[in-house]
Amino acid sequence: MGHPIPLIFERSVPGRTGYSLPECDVPEVPVQQLLPAGQIRQEAPRLPQVSEGDVIRHYVNLSSLNHSVDTGFYPLGSCTMKYNPKVNETATRLPGFARLHPLVPERCAQGALELMYNLEQYLAEITGMDAVSLQPVAGAHGEYTGLKIIAAYHKARGDHKRTTVLVPDSAHGTNPASAAMVGMKIVEVKSDCHGCVCLEDLKAKVDDTVAALMLTNPNTLGLFDINIAEIAEIVHNAGGLLYYDGANANAILGKVRPGDTGFDVVHLNLHKTFSTPHGGGGPGSGPVGVKAQLIPYLPAPRVVKEGDQYRLDYNLPDSIGKVHSFYGNFGVNVRAYTYIRMMGGEGLERVSEDAVLNANYLQARLKGHYHLEYDRLCMHEFVLSGKLQKAHGVRTLDIAKRLLDFGVHPPTIYFPLIIDEAIMIEPTETEGKETLDYFIDVMLQIAREAKEDPENVTQAPHTTPVSRLDEVGAARNPVLRWQP
Ligand SMILES: *Cc1c(COP(=O)(O)O)cnc(C)c1O
Repeated sequence: MGHPIPLIFERSVPGRTGYSLPECDVPEVPVQQLLPAGQIRQEAPRLPQVSEGDVIRHYVNLSSLNHSVDTGFYPLGSCTMKYNPKVNETATRLPGFARLHPLVPERCAQGALELMYNLEQYLAEITGMDAVSLQPVAGAHGEYTGLKIIAAYHKARGDHKRTTVLVPDSAHGTNPASAAMVGMKIVEVKSDCHGCVCLEDLKAKVDDTVAALMLTNPNTLGLFDINIAEIAEIVHNAGGLLYYDGANANAILGKVRPGDTGFDVVHLNLHKTFSTPHGGGGPGSGPVGVKAQLIPYLPAPRVVKEGDQYRLDYNLPDSIGKVHSFYGNFGVNVRAYTYIRMMGGEGLERVSEDAVLNANYLQARLKGHYHLEYDRLCMHEFVLSGKLQKAHGVRTLDIAKRLLDFGVHPPTIYFPLIIDEAIMIEPTETEGKETLDYFIDVMLQIAREAKEDPENVTQAPHTTPVSRLDEVGAARNPVLRWQP
């Protein structure tokens, strides 16, 4: 049995080519006169000999082997894999944006600067912050930038002992990682029986070394922490600041503003909530917003408006400096700007309403068939546990693999860590009821199979070009070169 798509080398036929050149009409110079002897090949390179059609089919077929949000449902909890409207791409490809060199004089880039300025204003309005920088290019990068700003703030006040960051046990892994990157010590705060921050544990752990508490709200369990006002008070009274991980803001648009609930710094992922593509480590954008007292520390330069002119201000003596070349990922910002303008304020509010409705619909129909640890209204996502299936020898990883047979991308699994065999599902607002019902049917079938025919699940996937892979090995020791 061959590979479903023959490798391009296996299609090779001696003498076949994909091009033809016109007759040479200049004198031919022997290669010996052009290159030193040591650099001349003794034998022809081993390249596939194929036609243009062979090459095109090969690459187009390869490109269709990957699951994508354009080809199927992608309920990847916390990661917000929503549909990416194509109008965003149209806007980004306008030559005035796409072909603008980042080093042109400011007077020739007024449109781009205006877009950046306006986008910063919109994001400040959405999050309830006083100023925003578009420079960071990922969520984790935004966290790093925000924590640098917090560190600079404490330092400027002579408050040198603030070197710890409090991180709840349900936090995204990037939170403690970013805190470590800026040289802070990480102290974990426990969740209570409702899946929210345990206030007793928080009180026991705040002291005068706390630089900040990093919080995701709704958290990665998809639960809104209703104690947020009290949490903010506890941290602020101890002299610490509140950091909002807004990577996934899909439940709060137009509903709650982090700035109104006590947060001092926030980052957003434009490549999640604001519909710009992500995955495969592609370009992202993780803007950071801050309250007024932190503005002096924002990354330089900042886009400023004077009269009806825009310019970049580098004269920011207290700034933490640059965190990325130029001004961030401009193309991603154009996409997010387009999305916000297309949706308008009411549209964004509707995004959150529909995202929350879709998640609750799935949660209501799947609970019972899968264990639900925190049985309450969820926000944009919820976390099931595969422990009922584990009793039959079927693990969450197996369920994830079996979903591939039905053309569904697996949800986020084994995260957050506080749920045994976690399955974290986020449908997003862009999916219709038919897709949600299809997913429910598939999940119920897998739950039945786990009881009646567990092998079918533990051996899955059956229909994909390759079955189970050594995922760690593939990432650590990738084989990128074909060898005969
Ligand atoms: C995705 C995510 C991050 C990290 O964002 P990246 O762009 O992948 O660095 C951080 N926090 C939460 C809650 C997330 O969902």
